[in-house]
Amino acid sequence: MQNSEKIWQFVDARKDAYEALSDRIWEMPEICYGEFRSVAEHRTMLEQEGFRIAENLAGIPTAIMGEAGDGGPVIAILGEYDALPGLSQVAGIAEPMELVPGGHGHGCGHNMLGAAALLAATAVKTYLAEAGIKGRVRYYGCPAEEGGAAKVFMVRAGHFDDVDIAITWHPAAINRVDDAVSLANTRIDFSFKGRASHAAAAPHLGRSALDAVELMNVGVNYMREHMPSDARIHYAMIDAGGVAPNVVQAKATVRYAIRAGNLPAMRALIERVKKIAEGAALMTETQASLKVVSAVSNLLGNAPLEEAMQAQFERLGPPPFDVADRKYAADIQATLSAEDIASAFARAGVPPCSDNPLCDFIVPQGTKGAPMIGSTDVGDVSWVVPTVQARVATHAIGTPGHSWQITAQGKSGQAKKGMVHAAKVMASVAIDALQNPSLIARAKTDHRARTAATPYDCPLPREVQPPLQPRPAPA
Ligand SMILES: [Zn+2]
Repeated sequence: MQNSEKIWQFVDARKDAYEALSDRIWEMPEICYGEFRSVAEHRTMLEQEGFRIAENLAGIPTAIMGEAGDGGPVIAILGEYDALPGLSQVAGIAEPMELVPGGHGHGCGHNMLGAAALLAATAVKTYLAEAGIKGRVRYYGCPAEEGGAAKVFMVRAGHFDDVDIAITWHPAAINRVDDAVSLANTRIDFSFKGRASHAAAAPHLGRSALDAVELMNVGVNYMREHMPSDARIHYAMIDAGGVAPNVVQAKATVRYAIRAGNLPAMRALIERVKKIAEGAALMTETQASLKVVSAVSNLLGNAPLEEAMQAQFERLGPPPFDVADRKYAADIQATLSAEDIASAFARAGVPPCSDNPLCDFIVPQGTKGAPMIGSTDVGDVSWVVPTVQARVATHAIGTPGHSWQITAQGKSGQAKKGMVHAAKVMASVAIDALQNPSLIARAKTDHRARTAATPYDCPLPREVQPPLQPRPAPA
């Protein structure tokens, strides 16, 4: 076990630089394929650490990969650095206060996610070089996790084809090995084309695209009663046709998110939603068309890797939070409801305890909580490579996802201790795999068994490309 401890020392030796990287990314929140400055920061670190760098993965200028080591198995460590729109927030306080009015913010903690993943890869690189063992470690800088699903494009382009195992993490409230439950998800824009006319003088000549959108939504809402209970559908009107009520709206677009437990169930639901769109068009004498914006698969677990990660996590223990961290976390908890806090424990499947606002335990293996009903593009990586994820505490228990409270805690003591801890968990799993070929073999056997009946079938239609953003002009 001495070797594993050495890997933790390598993490500690470089942690200051990566805490600073995390803070810099927090300070430049960029969203969905616009992460030009953030990827440049990650590129600089990869360069300084001596990784071999590949850019423009899947034709995406904000995706990057760094590799180190020679021969042997390939271990991928996945990072992210995209922010969320509208979650600008002053750091280190416990009240909502925008830092930049209307600005973006790291409300999902991806500033830490990327920095810790790169720190883990750096420690593994050092270990490989010192121990002189065969093996390669790769850091994948994956943009646009929020709403852009870049990893799916990276998988489709073959960037994970020669990877043996993939390891990642996500900032969280409760320490645990991720239970690998997420929903397959697609976003589809349904557009309707009608005929404009004066809504008072010649209403009989108009055919309203907005009416079609409204009827489609009503139809889908009636369908809800007859869907699988784990499926989810939600929508946003991204073009209501205009703002003048005295015009019959000739065009309108509604964006649907359609989620289900797996891809076949999602595809079946898509067909039903399409029929409702056609019905709405028929009723209103408009024309319906659709465009797939993004799609991700559900997560696939991997028992041998989850056991290996649990063992490393338990050896390491929970993150070493201090009195100041707990004080700030308690202030954050004061902004939450009792339900927020109770549901965090319920999701993890552990009994609530109120004496510590920061998680000081690791959820035991096999604990059944209420599964995550979100979606992640890690799902598609998990279908092509045995994948394992840690959830490491970086914020107060009960902090809602995608909230100002996560942005506020993004540079805090708990954030930094949690992210360094996550790097240690990930790096020691990588070393475990590099030193025990049987772990990789067992992970692959498990993966083959899970995918044998339903091999990976990329949910993205072939013609769909990532919605790339233009590179901003230099300031
Ligand atoms: Zn996230």
